[in-house]
Amino acid sequence: MSQEATIQTDVVVIGAGPAGLSFARAAAPGGVRITLVERSPESVLAEPPYDGREIALTHKSKELMQHLGMWDRVPENEIYKLKDAKVVNGTSDYQLHFPQPDRARGKPTDTLGYLISNHNIRRSAYEAAKTQDNIRFVCGVGVKEVKTDADKASVTLDDGRQIEAKLLVAADSRFSQTRRQLGISADMHDFGRTVIVVRMRHTLSNNHSAFECFHYGRTLALLPLEEHLTNCVITIDSHRADSILSLNPEELAADLTRQLGGRLGEMTQESEMHTYPLVGVHANAFSAERSALIGDAAVGMHPVTAHGFNLGLESAEILARLVAEAAGKGKDIASPVLLARYQREHMFNTRPLYHGTNMMVKLFTNESPPAKVLRSLVLRLSNNCPPIKQAISRQLTG
Ligand SMILES: Cc1cc2nc3c(=O)[nH]c(=O)nc-3n(C[C@H](O)[C@H](O)[C@H](O)COP(=O)(O)OP(=O)(O)OC[C@H]3O[C@@H](n4cnc5c(N)ncnc54)[C@H](O)[C@@H]3O)c2cc1C
Repeated sequence: MSQEATIQTDVVVIGAGPAGLSFARAAAPGGVRITLVERSPESVLAEPPYDGREIALTHKSKELMQHLGMWDRVPENEIYKLKDAKVVNGTSDYQLHFPQPDRARGKPTDTLGYLISNHNIRRSAYEAAKTQDNIRFVCGVGVKEVKTDADKASVTLDDGRQIEAKLLVAADSRFSQTRRQLGISADMHDFGRTVIVVRMRHTLSNNHSAFECFHYGRTLALLPLEEHLTNCVITIDSHRADSILSLNPEELAADLTRQLGGRLGEMTQESEMHTYPLVGVHANAFSAERSALIGDAAVGMHPVTAHGFNLGLESAEILARLVAEAAGKGKDIASPVLLARYQREHMFNTRPLYHGTNMMVKLFTNESPPAKVLRSLVLRLSNNCPPIKQAISRQLTG
């Protein structure tokens, strides 16, 4: 790329993760010039490494990804169908069951949702964005500083280059520096826990069923990929994470087999373990002068309800639609009215989901005797109260 001192663009997006790339791809047909700034080199965007995350996607996210030309770029045999889901509490056999639906978003279906590895989502989003001539990539360099005023947003890169835009979009993760520099506060909750993810092969079928088990002391989620291949998501207090990370493959397999009471038969470790700190974030505003937050920079969800990227896609779709509409009418693409509308539409969904998820996690990781009883009651109430169950199922399918 040329080394001109100041890059002039319409929209500057900070962070080419799945949210930033999806937004750029969605906004590009509106004709605006978009510049994506990403700290990683472009070769990593083109071939992102496997990072252990298997992303559960709703039917709505599938539609959005199809519309953006992302879905068809994921190898067909790496899109895993999730038939149904079960939740159990502690040592009890009682299950809250979300069965295989026969309809989702008004169409017949045989799946509750889909699972796609995060690296496949990132790669497909990058390839889809590359098809658009009006998206420019500035990679391998971080952002040092951002500033906005009534007329423009200015970004200073680590190598001293400047970018000026009408609209700045922060998509630089839940620990967003840009959000902080824009002066947007956030509700941040550190659960003090670590998520460990690992693929395991096993001799018995997983029946393409997701399984969430709130054991006492740790949580274990099973995400079915192939019939005999499952992603295990272990959530454990951070000071105890080493007790799992230090296990050799045989010890890990034995530990998980014991935790699961042998429900998947004999297990063998298929991938290395990856870890993530468990921190939930909800920004108190999704916009500021000439700027907006999307993806995890706006809302970084606890992964238990698998909403993070689904919400990230929604944020990208809403903001891109409003920007394209304004550009089409020759209006300001970062007017206070437009940004307020973006915030209203997106936050309508995110606030209840974020706080509801955190409340549920607190209850299901609280091991006092009254909490254990309440956990069991909540599962039974959700199972036997059709409106509650339907509302949760709707959230799962999108
Ligand atoms: C274990 C786990 C399981 C999950 N499971 C699910 C699930 O089942 N379903 C679901 O929907 N979601 C799930 N998620 C959430 C999902 O992974 C995130 O919501 C999604 O990856 C967020 O994408 P993003 O683009 O907003 O942020 P990120 O993926 O964090 O990308 C941010 C990008 O910004 C770049 N960047 C950061 N700072 C700068 C800077 N200063 N300058 C330039 N570039 C910068 C980074 O290099 C990165 O490329 C899960 C998350 C975890 C940890």
